Amino acid sequence: MARLFLSPPHMTGNEQRYIAEVFESNYIAPLGPMVTRFEQAICDYTQAPFALGTSSGTAALHLALRVSGIGEGDIVLASSFTFIGSVAAILYQQATPLFIDADAKSWNLSPELLELAIARAPKPPKALIVTHLYGQCAEMRRIMAICREHGIVVIEDAAESLGATLDGVHTGTWGDFGVYSFNGNKILSTSGGGMLVSKSEEAIAKAMFYATQAKEPTPWYEHKELGYNYRMSNVLAAIGVAQMEVLAERVTQRRRIFGWYQEALGEIDEIDFMPELPGAQGNRWLTTLTLGHSDPERVRTALEDHDIESRPLWKPMHLQPLFSGAEAVTDGVSEQLFSCGLCLPSGTQMTQEDVIRVSDIIRKVVV
Ligand SMILES: *Cc1c(COP(=O)(O)O)cnc(C)c1O
Repeated sequence: MARLFLSPPHMTGNEQRYIAEVFESNYIAPLGPMVTRFEQAICDYTQAPFALGTSSGTAALHLALRVSGIGEGDIVLASSFTFIGSVAAILYQQATPLFIDADAKSWNLSPELLELAIARAPKPPKALIVTHLYGQCAEMRRIMAICREHGIVVIEDAAESLGATLDGVHTGTWGDFGVYSFNGNKILSTSGGGMLVSKSEEAIAKAMFYATQAKEPTPWYEHKELGYNYRMSNVLAAIGVAQMEVLAERVTQRRRIFGWYQEALGEIDEIDFMPELPGAQGNRWLTTLTLGHSDPERVRTALEDHDIESRPLWKPMHLQPLFSGAEAVTDGVSEQLFSCGLCLPSGTQMTQEDVIRVSDIIRKVVV
């Protein structure tokens, strides 16, 4: 049997048709009509007013900080329970991260600890990067209210949560900026790429300027500011245009896979799945669970013995050696989740039989 991966790419067939169009037009470059089409498709789907295709989600997060004027010594609040790509740009900008723990209700940023972090910060924080982990929504209504009160720029890391909504509003469109990723393992993949969205046309124009080497509008190459080469390739955007046609189906299928796992494992006492907030419709990018007393590493190796990929939950940023000097407001939730959690294979080509096969192996270890 073929190896069962955590979240492999799932192509539709139209990708190659659109790539062929790109080749016919010879726009084998960053920028070009496919990038514009992909940006428009993201805006149409998420209702984000403006979008900019980038070379990665990490690059889009960096642009969001740069456009927000975050620089050396500025405090940037951030979810601790996340992937490094979420927060690396804080260091690119030589800013100071202040990590905030997760809430047991959502596994995402705790609004209570956010208020505590703002109160305890040595100076007013300028921005917040909030992650919607594993495609499940953070408590955005409260988070936005707190940040608005304190004049904090909100950047949503929706890299894992494209297609997820809270009260009908897409993740990535609540804050000042939203970021999506099309890396190989995300719900949609262009093999690599990202998207920055915003309500501000000016902010997206500025991000475009920085993403294209900060060239001044002169016939020769004139530079007053430092920029980056962060634009999306027109070839890869063709893949994105085809992938966007099936986003709704992909969300439905991920949620269906989650339902199958619930059915197969839900009655085991020590197993709990990642929760979903009231009003939220996550994309269930990965089905994730925690174990009450069994060792997740034993489950992981048992699955690996059957050529099935699973993985521990993200190791919180405040536990990473890279951030050993960073401040954090924590209450043990993410550490606990990290110690007892597991991500299960959740690719949209999985069948119910696959889910049952995985679940049977898990059951044998934990019961
Ligand atoms: C994938 C991911 C990113 C980074 O996206 P890339 O496109 O791989 O740079 C950022 N944050 C989270 C939470 C992610 O899962």
